[in-house]
Amino acid sequence: MNDVRNVIVIGSGPAGYTAALYAARAQLAPLVFEGSVTAGGALMNTTEVENFPGFRDGIMGPDLMEGMRAQAERFGAELVTDDVVEVRLTGDVKEVVTGSGETHRARAVVLAMGSAYRELGLPDEKRLSGRGVSWCATCDGFFFRGQHIVVVGGGDSAMEEANFLTKFAETVTVVHRRGELRASRIMQQRAFDNPKIRFEFGTEVSAILGEDKVTGLRLRDTTTGEEREVAATGLFVAIGHDPRSELVRGQVDLDPEGFILVEGRSSRTNLPGVFAAGDVIDHDYMQAITAAGSGCAAALDAERYLAHLG
Ligand code: FAD
Repeated sequence: MNDVRNVIVIGSGPAGYTAALYAARAQLAPLVFEGSVTAGGALMNTTEVENFPGFRDGIMGPDLMEGMRAQAERFGAELVTDDVVEVRLTGDVKEVVTGSGETHRARAVVLAMGSAYRELGLPDEKRLSGRGVSWCATCDGFFFRGQHIVVVGGGDSAMEEANFLTKFAETVTVVHRRGELRASRIMQQRAFDNPKIRFEFGTEVSAILGEDKVTGLRLRDTTTGEEREVAATGLFVAIGHDPRSELVRGQVDLDPEGFILVEGRSSRTNLPGVFAAGDVIDHDYMQAITAAGSGCAAALDAERYLAHLG
């Protein structure tokens, strides 16, 4: 069993690294578990990030994350490329068990495990991610000026993405498996009223075409199974996302969709000394900058909590 630390951070995206940076600069010597497979978080899977302030010409996702990591390390954060597989968070001293079987203890824990965008599960989806396949219109819409793009999904977020994308795209085709949308009436109407948006109901994407970037899609009729190819240079997958909160289920309060609940604008969970930040608490914004901002808040909340413990 290791000594009791001040802070353990679980997660290594913009939220985790920013929490680590702030905690390190507050002399709290945080221990950060980055994950064994996806250290660096969601931006490791993308190419250019053009909306993180401070990078006038944009920056590649992995470079941005490497910079955040190095900055946290420079001030004394200890980074471990391992998964946390079990936590015991209810006591004054929290325990965190890693994939390699070690137990670490701390008085405060920051949960920053992020969320996973749901994928279609098609063979070329990963390969063409950032090369025409995207999960975020706010992030990538700008790259698709004057192009023909497809949005997959039938809920509010799919309608929001489709409407937003018409600012840039020549046409946006919404492809939805069912015969009708799940989105709220008002969101549906907005999409129906938009002259740039078309709908393909009862249809699914069965293949993504293209070598280095997306050049087209194969669509399948969900009733007849008939397939056809359409030209498109962008595919936006908007079928939802799942917060990575399984680890703390049963200890930390979650909302019905599995997002960790925090008190008001703070990062405080229902458990004293346990704070949460980034996409794992966020239904609405899900951006690198908002995740980083909430990581900062979590470190400051942890610092105040520890100061009160004396
Ligand atoms: P994440 O970045 O998801 O990081 C969490 C990480 O924590 C995980 O990846 C993993 O490494 C680690 N982890 C999870 N569970 C455990 C565990 N049990 N033990 C140890 N470690 C664990 N946003 C923008 O602002 N601009 C963009 O251009 C942009 N482009 C994007 C492109 C893509 C393809 C995707 C998927 C997202 C994009 N986003 C973009 C959104 C942005 O990446 C997220 O909002 C942001 O990364 C969320 O940060 P986070 O720290 O909350 O979580």
